[in-house]
Amino acid sequence: MFAVSKSIGSAIALSVVVPVFNEEANLSELYERLTKTLDGLGSSYEIIFVDDGCTDGSSQRLRELAAGDPRVRAVRFVRNFGQHAALSAGIERSRGDIVILMDADLQSDPEEVPRFISKIGEGCDLVTGWRADRQDLGIARRIGSAVMNKLVSLSTGATLHDHGCGFRAMTRRVAQEINRSGDLRRFLAVRLVTAAHAVGEVPIANHARRRGQSKYTPFRLLALTFELLLVVSAGSFRIIGCAGILGALVGGLVACGALLGRLAFGMVVGPFVLVAILFLVLGGVQFTILGLLGEFVVRGYHAAQALPFYVVEEEIGGAAGAKAGLG
Ligand code: UDP
Ligand code: MG
Repeated sequence: MFAVSKSIGSAIALSVVVPVFNEEANLSELYERLTKTLDGLGSSYEIIFVDDGCTDGSSQRLRELAAGDPRVRAVRFVRNFGQHAALSAGIERSRGDIVILMDADLQSDPEEVPRFISKIGEGCDLVTGWRADRQDLGIARRIGSAVMNKLVSLSTGATLHDHGCGFRAMTRRVAQEINRSGDLRRFLAVRLVTAAHAVGEVPIANHARRRGQSKYTPFRLLALTFELLLVVSAGSFRIIGCAGILGALVGGLVACGALLGRLAFGMVVGPFVLVAILFLVLGGVQFTILGLLGEFVVRGYHAAQALPFYVVEEEIGGAAGAKAGLG
């Protein structure tokens, strides 16, 4: 039904990764609808739930699902590390040729999975859901979401309608790229679009939450915004450094011109020109040094990416006992 090429060494066509933070009331319906949809595809699959430190009955429910279905695995974090860490853990453990990410809250329909797979079949290596008619936002989050979308589009060069949508599909290659991205996965949307060659969008229905509540309080959204700023601002040091070099060069040229004019033609150099020269040269040198220092920091940061940023307490069900490879 869908074109999933079998990659060497992988026996599974499809992995579905679901981050779960206190979604007890949604898990049974999600499991039923998702397995029904995936069974209809006629290909092998696995579902990886990542329990992001749940404090309700979700952990127990996941344990039951994993015990009753060998295609279901659950990873339980020792505490709450956030959605992006949970997704990262799930992608690391996935084995499918195609990896689907989706929220557990049923705001999007699991029945839409085949549309994402078709889009991958058309040659995309990353497919993102586009919630054209969002039902889940108040005015403040709507504005925040639009700003975030613009920022990610600008910083990555990938102009999408909905960078924040949790429903996505990627090829194994992109998944492997993500696995190597260390700390950069703290804001996954940015890393995903930069890791992909061909990004596609699928318009999907979006429902208001029927059960449970959004995990994003205003404070958590602010913290997430900070993560985004950290990721996208790394390149700004280069702009500062280049502006510094340019300023110092212009200042130097004006100084040479003024000196030549004075010596050759006896021109009087006014105080405004002197101040401008001083400002451009000194400011330019400062900015150049700032840009270089920033570049060193960013490179050091990138070099340290092998560090893990979550701790797994236990892995439940399926082949979870065998450590999933990173590549
Ligand atoms: N989630 C998570 N860890 C968190 C916050 C959220 O695993 O710290 C999961 C959550 O259970 C859901 C998905 O991420 O499956 C999206 O969260 P939510 O629906 O609360 O976000 P919203 O739709 O309000 O943006
Ligand atoms: Mg939601």
